[in-house]
Amino acid sequence: MKILVINCGSSSAKFQLFDIDTGDVLAKGNAERIGIDGKLTYKPAGKDEFVSTEPMPDHKVAVRMILDALVDPEHGVISDVSEIAAVGHRVLHGGKYYSESVIVNDDVKKVIRECFPLGPLHNPANLIGIEACEDVLPEGTPQVAVFDTAFHQTMPPKAYTYALPYELSEKYDIRRYGFHGTSHRYVSHRVADFLGKKYEDLRIITCHLGNGSSFAAVKDGKCQDTSMGLTPLAGICMGTRTGDIDPAIVPFLMKNERFTPDEMDTLLNKQSGVQGVSGVSSDFRDLEKAANEGNDRARLALDMFAYQGKKIIGSYAAAMGGVDVIVFTAGIGENTDHMRKAMCEGLEFMGVEFDDSVNAGLRGKEAIISKPSSKVTVCVIPTNEELAIAQETERLVR
Ligand code: AMP
Repeated sequence: MKILVINCGSSSAKFQLFDIDTGDVLAKGNAERIGIDGKLTYKPAGKDEFVSTEPMPDHKVAVRMILDALVDPEHGVISDVSEIAAVGHRVLHGGKYYSESVIVNDDVKKVIRECFPLGPLHNPANLIGIEACEDVLPEGTPQVAVFDTAFHQTMPPKAYTYALPYELSEKYDIRRYGFHGTSHRYVSHRVADFLGKKYEDLRIITCHLGNGSSFAAVKDGKCQDTSMGLTPLAGICMGTRTGDIDPAIVPFLMKNERFTPDEMDTLLNKQSGVQGVSGVSSDFRDLEKAANEGNDRARLALDMFAYQGKKIIGSYAAAMGGVDVIVFTAGIGENTDHMRKAMCEGLEFMGVEFDDSVNAGLRGKEAIISKPSSKVTVCVIPTNEELAIAQETERLVR
């Protein structure tokens, strides 16, 4: 069965075509600069990359160009679009409505639209992508929405409620939603398989450390807590996002620097985090290099990231009454041995015996990086959100 996975942004559409029976990626690419000029990068497996700069005035044209590339006699990987059994769409926000992926119908589209205020940058683009596929693909091709928030919908009210006036939280649906759910779901299931253990029996802390970073506590087969909140700004400090700060800093800066709400939003999301602290970069490779060359603020940013991550791990262990497995994933979690080590250092009191002889130099591979005697098993599990979306899509349409 062939499944197309699409991740639409406001001016882009990333895609991968999977043969789900083998897990192979048949082709992947990115349609960028939609509505500006247009650039389609397309890479069929085993063949050369192909770039087209034909104009892409809207997402419908972009989807049509993607499909044309997939069936192209020269670069194509299928002979007809009818071979695409279903399309899986990454959708940022399913609000309080969806705790699972769903086959798209009019009600689902209504909910995605209702959640525009909660995901103003992503949800409109996600819906445009769904509608573009409906217009361009043969009638009846199922579309599946896989929500970034869905996995976290099992959190209990004490974990997701903010201490605001209750009526206001209800009026605006203000609560912790959490994000990266597809990744947390994938790596938590995958680590149970990898260790040959039953998912429901494990207390797992998943650490998705990338440009955006979040943690999840999984117990009894359900997400119990997560570090991102109403928006992906909360939790640990990130590439350019503050993470949790004293909320009083916001009105303080707005008053003293005369920032508008939009300027404040930009500062919190795009000018802060390890980039803001270091003044060097949001990229952890640049930060490590600068810190090793003696840049104190780069070192401080890395220390803050490790310290905040360690505190979240400790708090989730407390929340679950212990932890059996800690999993590192995403760009930093999979590739940065120093950060994994720094986050686990000092956790011996709760049963972590880290094994740096395995950890050092390990990149992008499934592995156990704790000692065999460790009460807590620490693992690296590379995430694969696109494959997870394809698998969810297949499960629903089969
Ligand atoms: P992601 O958002 O998951 O793509 O992760 C991006 C982050 O991962 C950036 O801060 C990168 O510095 C970091 N990263 C990605 N690849 C590597 C690598 N090979 N070594 C160190 N850090 C990496």
